[in-house]
Amino acid sequence: MSQTPVVTRFAPSPTGYLHIGGARTALFNWLYARGRGGKFLLRIEDTDRARSTPEATAAILKGLEWLGLDWDGEPISQFARKDRHAEVARQMLENGTAYQCFSTTDEIAAWREENPRQPFVSPWRDAADLPDAPHVIRLKAPRAGETLIDDQVQGEVRVANDQLDDMVLLRSDGTPTYMLAVVVDDHDMGVTHVIRGDDHLTNTARQIQIYDAMGWDRPVFAHIPLIHGEDGKKLSKRHGAVGLHEFAALGYPPAAMRNYLARLGWSHGDDELFDDAQARAWFDLSGIGRAPARLDFKKLEHVSGHHIGAMGDGDVLAALEGYLSETGAPALTEPQRTRILAAMTALKEKAKTLPALLDQARFAMIDRPVTVEEKAAKNLDTVSRGMLVSLTAALQNVSWTRHDLEEAAKQVAEQNGVGLGKIAGPLRAALAGTSATPSVFDMMTSLGRDETLARLQDQTDLAG
Ligand code: GLU
Repeated sequence: MSQTPVVTRFAPSPTGYLHIGGARTALFNWLYARGRGGKFLLRIEDTDRARSTPEATAAILKGLEWLGLDWDGEPISQFARKDRHAEVARQMLENGTAYQCFSTTDEIAAWREENPRQPFVSPWRDAADLPDAPHVIRLKAPRAGETLIDDQVQGEVRVANDQLDDMVLLRSDGTPTYMLAVVVDDHDMGVTHVIRGDDHLTNTARQIQIYDAMGWDRPVFAHIPLIHGEDGKKLSKRHGAVGLHEFAALGYPPAAMRNYLARLGWSHGDDELFDDAQARAWFDLSGIGRAPARLDFKKLEHVSGHHIGAMGDGDVLAALEGYLSETGAPALTEPQRTRILAAMTALKEKAKTLPALLDQARFAMIDRPVTVEEKAAKNLDTVSRGMLVSLTAALQNVSWTRHDLEEAAKQVAEQNGVGLGKIAGPLRAALAGTSATPSVFDMMTSLGRDETLARLQDQTDLAG
């Protein structure tokens, strides 16, 4: 059996930002294709001219790029393909799988009144004499039997054909309908697997009828349950962040978002934490559940913390710089980058999000003289300042290693008859001006000898 290469696609409508549900759909399609050496294509469904905007397209592309999902080739504009859609409708007309319908809106309304709750049956379906008048092109859909959707997630879904009317393919102004456009595009793009939200399941029976009318192979369908909020209700603004850009602004690194979103509706045994290579190797349609996944910020924090800890120091720095630019904060200066990198091992171990890491890295970003917060200032009484004077003297000749710094601090604490903790408080205040910081020794190695001594000096000068 020859193996057809996998082709998936993400087909957003550019009417707003990239929703977290859309990002997850894109991720599933990307993982499925990339895990099989296949292609992942992008199609912008911009046929609704009133609602589609270039800004929305740009926002969606930016979101995909941020999430690290690369697509093959150029994004395809659905609107630009309208002539091809019309051509297929005319081909169906020629094949006898579609017909011209001259019923007016009023006539259809009158028919519906007489036949309540029934799908419209056009009197033109088998007509021989056709007027030269405005008309739509309708699919000559099968009237008997049923259309079977063999869905990889939802199982077998059957729709009785007499419940579906002969859908319009081409409107009287010559523009294609959405249903026709999707099928023609998926076919022409060679899409083998359609993975999308289950809000599209109801369209699928109709789309299958178009595939069959054209004699085209149907793709494999997988309709994923939508994402719900923590309370189990359909996700909405009420639940907090719903746009991918909002998650970016909350400071979850892209690698963590990929991991978290992959687990939102898909599972591989009990694996919660994994990298891209594992996700690509493991991802399969059989692992997608039928129940809607719930967005869980606690879990997301946990996944995020894991990824920050597992990333290389330079990668965390890059994610941090991405976060700063995303939030419109000033870029890091060279000395700030150097200091943050020097403390990165300690910083990334604790932080669950990028802003939390930045908070801890504050000591590395501030300039002298350090402003000491009120709470931290309590650690800088006369006795403590005295201890800092002795410490400053002791530090003059030590080699600037964590071990030697610790030894020096211990000695000064001993000489003063106090524990190390008593000296760490003032030291922390002097170096960072706040009480929430990494360990004092991590700060000292990050800042280096000159800056550390200068910050101590600034405080001990005040000792009088
Ligand atoms: N444009 C549709 C949407 O944004 C997706 C259509 C499809 O995946 O077939 O919901």
